[in-house]
Amino acid sequence: MRYFRLMDEPRIGRLPASFRKLDMGKRRDALRNTFAFSDDEWSSISCAPELLELVDVMVETAVGCVPLPLGIAQGFLIDGIEVSVPMAVEEPSVITAASYAASLVRADGGFTTWASDPLMTAQVFLEAVTAHGEQALSQCEADVRQALAGPLESLSRRGGGYRALHVARLPSGVVTVDLVIDVRDAMGANRLNTAAESVRPLLERVSGGRVVMAILSNAASQRLAGARFTIPVERLEHALPEGMSGQEAARRVAVASNIAQEDPARAVTHNKGIMNGIASLALATMNDTRAVEAAAHLWAVRDGHYRGLSRYNTDGRTLTGEIELPVALATVGGSIDFHPAGRACKRILGNPDARHLSRIAAAVGLAQNFAAVLALVTHGIQKGHMRYHAARLAYLAGARGAEVRRLAQELSASDHMDAASAGTLLESLRDRKDP
Ligand code: NAD
Repeated sequence: MRYFRLMDEPRIGRLPASFRKLDMGKRRDALRNTFAFSDDEWSSISCAPELLELVDVMVETAVGCVPLPLGIAQGFLIDGIEVSVPMAVEEPSVITAASYAASLVRADGGFTTWASDPLMTAQVFLEAVTAHGEQALSQCEADVRQALAGPLESLSRRGGGYRALHVARLPSGVVTVDLVIDVRDAMGANRLNTAAESVRPLLERVSGGRVVMAILSNAASQRLAGARFTIPVERLEHALPEGMSGQEAARRVAVASNIAQEDPARAVTHNKGIMNGIASLALATMNDTRAVEAAAHLWAVRDGHYRGLSRYNTDGRTLTGEIELPVALATVGGSIDFHPAGRACKRILGNPDARHLSRIAAAVGLAQNFAAVLALVTHGIQKGHMRYHAARLAYLAGARGAEVRRLAQELSASDHMDAASAGTLLESLRDRKDP
């Protein structure tokens, strides 16, 4: 097998070696001079000067912004409160699907949600620790609490801070000291990393061992959020294929749910659907999507078998959906209140605190998944997706504004959904409009 190397490709330009040392303006010039951007490509990664200033502070070698679509999922009734959910996502049908499931559920009370305290864990790993040293670590809680008072002061002041210490030995012999910390409305990564690093000397002194590293764990397995709904099976009836009862649709949803418990290959797609909702909300609110996803997948495999994160049951009269998973979403700190888009999306949500946001996320994840599973076991997933494919073809053919929707409808009804048909149909649409 021959590996393709980027430098073998003569058409790919190379940025100057000094690129990262240039200021934003010069970096952008260098970028533009190196790559043959079309005008729309260039303008799509450009943004207002004040945003350029902002992103320059957020990440290194920033050159612009990627304008991901932001949409609003409507119809959510969560613990009796109407919520509009901002979702940043590139995939079509995600927002419609979430809204659709929310509308199915809202007539029967909507989603009931819950969340644990926002507990995160920082880990300090030590090697060369004797059994005696390990025991000493288990007994040093008072000293650790005292050493953490400074680094965790801003959390303690708000009712959070240090909660517990756990010591364990890994099969390799490395000893882990887990520090459990209530991070209030923060995600906690920076705060926990600072805390863990600050107790390194203390833990080395107490144990006689050597610290290998100190870092938060993204597992967030004590920072759980959940959501649940129950609807009568008749609620499903208005959107089913002819001849299928609500009871049968509910039974199939429950079967699909069991399959996701048994087959990891299906479970991963089931869970990807859940994360379509949660990650889109996380991104819109400028949260750390990778941390949320990593935690969810670890949770999915917590008993040693990778399983679906949501479950559905039916007794023949009602269908119940339920989800519980780690959701380390924050409403302060990081990029969340730094980036105005994060602040704007929080405002759309009604300025929730972190626990409330994680409960909304659980409901959105469940809604997203419910819509996908229901589609899968009834009409199939492609029917809805093709509508969006038609809209993209229409856009690529040159349709704009109201034309896009009309052309997409005509394309969906035609025998051929491809670029050539889109072009022909657009011409005929325009001819009909301008005689
Ligand atoms: P941060 O450093 O901005 O700290 C959050 C601050 O918010 C803390 O000082 C805390 O005391 C304060 N706070 C908590 N509740 C509050 C409230 N109700 N009102 C006002 N202030 C409150 O951010 P962080 O949460 O410690 O870390 C998050 C950042 O770390 C993210 O940007 C993330 O991408 C990044 N990060 C993540 C990882 C990872 O592995 N996940 C690793 C390193 C960095």
